[in-house]
Amino acid sequence: MEENKSTPSNFIREIIDEDLKSKKHSLIHTRFPPEPNGYLHIGHAKSICLNFGIARDYNGMCNLRFDDTNPVKEDIEYVESIEEDVRWLGFDWDDRMFYASDYFDRLYEFAVQLIKDDNAYVDSSTSQELREMKGTLTEAGALSPYRNRSVEENLELFTGMKEGKYEDGAHVLRAKIDMASTNMHMRDPVIYRIKKATHHNTGDKWCIYPMYDYAHPLSDWIEGITHSLCTLEFEIHRPLYDWFLDALKLKNRPRQIEFARLNLTYTVMSKRKLLELVQEGLVSGWDDPRMPTICGLRRRGYTPESIRNFADRVGVAKRDAMTDVALLEHSVREDLNKHAMRVMAVLRPLKVVITNYPDDKTEEMETTNNPEDETMGTRKIPFSNVIYIEREDFQEVPHKKFHRLSPGNEVRLKSAYIIKCTEVIKDDKGEITELHCTYDPETKSGSGSMRSVKGTIHWVSAKHAVKAEVRLYDRLFVTEDPASDDKDFRELLNPHSLDILKECYIEPELSKAKTGDKFQFIRTGYFCVDPLSNDEMLVFNRTVALKDSWTKIDKK
Ligand code: ATP
Ligand code: MG
Repeated sequence: MEENKSTPSNFIREIIDEDLKSKKHSLIHTRFPPEPNGYLHIGHAKSICLNFGIARDYNGMCNLRFDDTNPVKEDIEYVESIEEDVRWLGFDWDDRMFYASDYFDRLYEFAVQLIKDDNAYVDSSTSQELREMKGTLTEAGALSPYRNRSVEENLELFTGMKEGKYEDGAHVLRAKIDMASTNMHMRDPVIYRIKKATHHNTGDKWCIYPMYDYAHPLSDWIEGITHSLCTLEFEIHRPLYDWFLDALKLKNRPRQIEFARLNLTYTVMSKRKLLELVQEGLVSGWDDPRMPTICGLRRRGYTPESIRNFADRVGVAKRDAMTDVALLEHSVREDLNKHAMRVMAVLRPLKVVITNYPDDKTEEMETTNNPEDETMGTRKIPFSNVIYIEREDFQEVPHKKFHRLSPGNEVRLKSAYIIKCTEVIKDDKGEITELHCTYDPETKSGSGSMRSVKGTIHWVSAKHAVKAEVRLYDRLFVTEDPASDDKDFRELLNPHSLDILKECYIEPELSKAKTGDKFQFIRTGYFCVDPLSNDEMLVFNRTVALKDSWTKIDKK
């Protein structure tokens, strides 16, 4: 992929610089460890850009590791979507795609070792009893009556657990640490539980499954990870992460470093909530363009580069914060501004008849494809006596600062002529159905005409235009932080987050557009072709409007 030299330094890169300088490590090795229980979202993109970005910039490696220790919620559909999304973002794990379940045998052997060293025991308490023995933040936990089982008895029971002799919940394997620790995670945490469930990868081979806190440091160690980057909520798990590595006397240990997770305004990021939105039909699917998922953003028209730039801008901090979604929108606007062809599309059409233009004539008007990039060239747009303009570009009784079309007034048609409105036609109900205008043949764009008027509007020739459907999106939620609200997040959904316009008219040039193609519709925003498009109908998604609320905030 293209080098991204601008990635700013951060406290994690400083630690890595130090580790290289002191020769603690010579090769940096990170990993991105998604649990395949949902689609990736923009928060994961931050973690992906961080882990793969470090590997790229330090000539190191980054593994893709599926953290699939919970057979019940995981699915191959998610595995495939995760691979696709990481690749689409522009990153590559070469041949290093792993599953925590690849290590089940070794993790089992490690557990046997812990038992042999009296660092783990089988507990036969019920889950209720386990909870009661846990203690509280101010009170030490109680020692389990099974805590002093002999090594032999533990080995026999653990083997029996593995062989399926016991039912779910009959026993657990616990690390023997400290029931009086002020850190609750150190109070003899469960490291294996019985779960007679089919695993998407290992099938029915196992009926005991390791807990995340146990599997993670050991998977990191097995893969030779040097820096294990995770979000802040794992800070309190770090002593446990280190304890397993210590207890098993492992050398060349990975170091866990925590960073703040990304939170974005007007959306939710928990996979559970995103799954509920999908399952309850509150959105059209994981790739609904309103979703903060990577596939949703892709369908909405976001580019991988815009997401990587966004991740760089957000940076990596040690304190949780809320990021304004306007920054994400700013990043995509900035990228599309450079690359998207400018075209004319009328979203809410109003018919205009140019009464002094011959009705059998068509002129080809020349226009630039992108003023930001001359190499994109020019193209021709057909002009004729019947055109569509945007309804909101006409006001029968114009307010003071309205410089577009109104009765008796002139406006310039972009890349064409100046027209003047001479008559307003209405139906029985008083609704405006069309306008009659005259054009001034001396004012053709590019002809050196000196006459200018205050407003310029976009248009399409009715005879040549192609009909299309356009979908406009607004924020999915009405409040900035729906997750922190007392109300159920469903009640905070924005009822106007999707507006489907079925009768839009676009330049004929766009009839060839394919899924994913991106354009700027002059004056209305950036749009991309939706996969629902077919030979009969093009469907466009508005990626983002043109107005940038972020630069405004920036300048304040
Ligand atoms: P959830 O809590 O919603 O289930 P998760 O964090 O458990 O999500 P994982 O699949 O375990 O999801 O995440 C994979 C990696 O992505 C982890 O290293 C995790 O820390 C990181 N990650 C998840 N969410 C965010 C976020 N909002 N910002 C940054 N990194 C994140
Ligand atoms: Mg997780």
